[in-house]
Amino acid sequence: MDKKTIRDIDVQGKRVFVRVDFNVPLNGSTITDDTRIRAALPTIQELRAKGARIILASHLGRPKGQIVAQLSLKPIAARLQQLLGTSVAFSADSIGSGAEQQVGQLQDGDVLLLENVRFHSGEEKNDPDLAAAFAKLADVYVNDAFGAAHRAHASTEGIARFLPAVAGMLMERELSVLGEALAHPARPFTAMIGGAKVSDKIGVIEHLLAKVDRLLIGGGMANTFLAAKGYELGKSLVEADRVEVARELIQKAQETGKELLLPVDLVLATAFAADAPSRIGAVDEVHADEMALDIGPETSRLYAKTVMTSKTVIWNGPMGVFEMEHFAAGTNAVAHAMAEVQGMTIIGGGDSVAAIEKAGLAERMTHISTGGGASLEFLEGKVLPGVAALQSRKGASQ
Ligand code: ADP
Ligand code: MG
Repeated sequence: MDKKTIRDIDVQGKRVFVRVDFNVPLNGSTITDDTRIRAALPTIQELRAKGARIILASHLGRPKGQIVAQLSLKPIAARLQQLLGTSVAFSADSIGSGAEQQVGQLQDGDVLLLENVRFHSGEEKNDPDLAAAFAKLADVYVNDAFGAAHRAHASTEGIARFLPAVAGMLMERELSVLGEALAHPARPFTAMIGGAKVSDKIGVIEHLLAKVDRLLIGGGMANTFLAAKGYELGKSLVEADRVEVARELIQKAQETGKELLLPVDLVLATAFAADAPSRIGAVDEVHADEMALDIGPETSRLYAKTVMTSKTVIWNGPMGVFEMEHFAAGTNAVAHAMAEVQGMTIIGGGDSVAAIEKAGLAERMTHISTGGGASLEFLEGKVLPGVAALQSRKGASQ
């Protein structure tokens, strides 16, 4: 990774503005999943150990520039305090004299959490005045919010124009694992892409197709590929306006000698419902009143075998409507196959991560990306603005 990190700079006694991703799910003021808070702990602990004065900033939800009491970060300060085992101060505004005063009181190793940065409308507009107001609080900027790095906002990009800017440890790990897998994969290198729609992931498929040896397509998007091959899919989710793109991708795979695998059988139901009666059918025998809601057992075996004989696997997108038990078998089968890979396994995408966690296999993966949208954009080969804004380590290779 060619970006500077907190290990490359001196932070002793300095005020360090750390952009974290504390956008956690809340039920009222109860945090229902604190994974994102835990993910930021290594950076916070490292900075504390080095004697930095730590100012944490994050967004939470979509308050759209308004103060929304339910989207206050205050409950997060309490949880962070428990997790860190040290007191965490809270500032009711992320800029201004109150925040400045609280920053002024920080001693080396102290931690202050600022209120939701999106309470200011300038955040999502990347307003330079807001960025300058954040920068005024600190001497150094650290971005550890990989999950927000695909957005050019005041606290993810704008502020980096005013302060020396480096990556935190979570950001570093995300960039190096994803970057290394794409740049120097152990082969065979397989990408498994699923989820609802082709249109969400065309960029990812195109970019990965050029890099991988094998591409497995599942989930709702497989229907569009199957339609491109001339199959009748009944009432299945097919994106008519993407059939042509799917056809081009199939052709490109052929021309470049890549293995592009599509389902050979499907789990079919007459309604999109958890209790809908279902049957297994080959891809050429879908009835007009049926829809495909999962890959079939033959496809699961084929995909599992392909995954298990790979040395690098990137997985994004469930193989079926895994939220419903009857249509979760395909996703579970490939999740178990991922756990058996003798090599590197990477998972990106909110629903795919949820599926692997539900299967209890998260610990067996090499890397689970904390950034849904950000990891997708990274896999598309896009430059993430929050990453581009960080200082490069001159002379170092990627
Ligand atoms: P991720 O969050 O991992 O990137 P996506 O958001 O792209 O994944 O897709 C996940 C969604 O796709 C799930 O809600 C799942 O129910 C849906 N899905 C998967 N297979 C099908 C299908 N055959 N028909 C309709 N929806 C599907
Ligand atoms: Mg999703």
